[in-house]
Amino acid sequence: MPTFEYAPAPESRAVVDIASSHGLFIGGEFVEATGGTAFKTVNPATEEVLSEVSEASADDVDAAVRAARTAYTRVWSRMSGADRGKYLYRIARIVQERARELAVLETLDNGKPIKESRDVDIPLVAAHFFYHAGWADKLSYASLGENPRPVGVVGQVIPWNFPLLMLAWKVAPALATGNTVVLKPAETTPLTALLFAEICRQADLPPGVVNIVTGAGATGQAIVDHPGIDKLAFTGSTGVGKMIARSIAGTRKRATLELGGKGANIVFDDAAIDQAVEGIVTGIFFNQGHVCCAGSRLLVQENVADEVLRRLKRRLGTLRVGDPMDKNTDVGAINSKAQLERIQALTEAGEAEGAERWDSGCELPAHGYWFRPTVFSGVAQTHRIAQEEIFGPVVSVLTFRTPGEAVAKANNTPYGLSAGVWTEKGSRILWMADQLRAGVVWANTFNKFDPTSPFGGYKESGYGREGGRHGLEAYVTTGGGQ
Ligand code: NDP
Repeated sequence: MPTFEYAPAPESRAVVDIASSHGLFIGGEFVEATGGTAFKTVNPATEEVLSEVSEASADDVDAAVRAARTAYTRVWSRMSGADRGKYLYRIARIVQERARELAVLETLDNGKPIKESRDVDIPLVAAHFFYHAGWADKLSYASLGENPRPVGVVGQVIPWNFPLLMLAWKVAPALATGNTVVLKPAETTPLTALLFAEICRQADLPPGVVNIVTGAGATGQAIVDHPGIDKLAFTGSTGVGKMIARSIAGTRKRATLELGGKGANIVFDDAAIDQAVEGIVTGIFFNQGHVCCAGSRLLVQENVADEVLRRLKRRLGTLRVGDPMDKNTDVGAINSKAQLERIQALTEAGEAEGAERWDSGCELPAHGYWFRPTVFSGVAQTHRIAQEEIFGPVVSVLTFRTPGEAVAKANNTPYGLSAGVWTEKGSRILWMADQLRAGVVWANTFNKFDPTSPFGGYKESGYGREGGRHGLEAYVTTGGGQ
């Protein structure tokens, strides 16, 4: 029950000026798509059309790859690391200077709360460019192998859940290591990538080093299939990741794939329960649960399960769901109608399979795409809501009795991206981290990101690491020769 009411605290959108239509960013210029087709991008909180964005054809992708190749051979691969670093530092500083504009645009196009885009996404974007700027002239000291050199032209396809942050995860290491880039943002969230293109111009980045082609799946496929691409970096669904792996099998193309997850957030009976409840909320309701490493399976030790559930439900009753532009909002809009339908279908399956459904009953706005924070208890490991990625504000609660059972249940998934452990015992944290088949294990916290820390998965969560020294490896070739 709320103890007091919040007054509205709307962020102003006057800081952004959204053009009614956008072209593609190829060779340092904004150009029209050759096919002449375009699609609309909407604000998922209101269904208002924000802009029309060009749809890149295979010919446009070809032009972008050629521009990237020319920039690679003539300029970027020849430039000293120290000089490349200067451009990355410049981009990082401009991101900081234009942080408010980027945060507002991200929230309008994606639906995430402004306090998240302002305090998490955009600061992390700047941090990724600062961090990789520092590596640009130190690659030979990064233990990457003998004579680290760029791979060439990199194709990058990113999702809609952290649009600009995923761009930063991809573009910063590629540029720091001397590669050039053709990037496709997701169809529903292209606007911050296009503003980033403007930032590249503002930073005087040599034309063709970064190219941004907007479009849907077919544009992504054209990047994957283009023979001029040396390496692919993809973040998105496991289904599309598998298609990409099949498409490039037998070619010389390299790939890193960052795919889905079904992270276990494990609460032992000796954990500080209130902190654990905050961690459960951060784990699954941050960014509407549109997080590949979300703690979407809550495993609670049986003797504290009732208490944890009681406190969790009370806490969810205080979450503010609604206008993402309000600075007090905790949970914003679902990114698209299609994603809302996916969440609805899976939660209906959860009920049909016999799990017990609960939501906070909060009021939802009349327009836009919304879903109440939802808890399923009595979930069995075989239920679809325990196995499949819902990618929404829905947590599936299971119980366990012993640490061994917790590990067995946590690892009983085709995915292997993340896990969390809540306990007061350091030795148990270390033992669990060793047993859990997950790329990231958080202890007494969840969903913490840092550019110095490698991120990536096992099994169907993909392969390769992004971030940290390990993340550089994917973007260099080593050994003798040129
Ligand atoms: P997708 O995997 O379809 O989208 C990710 C990116 O890949 C987008 O830029 C998309 O373009 C592009 N793409 C789509 N098809 C192809 C293709 N054949 N070749 C190359 N690129 C392609 O994810 P969805 O948006 O469809 O989401 C579906 C589910 O995937 C979610 O419910 C969630 O479970 C999971 N997901 C996981 C993410 C993660 O971070 N691990 C991120 C996003 C989704 P476009 O957007 O234009 O279709």
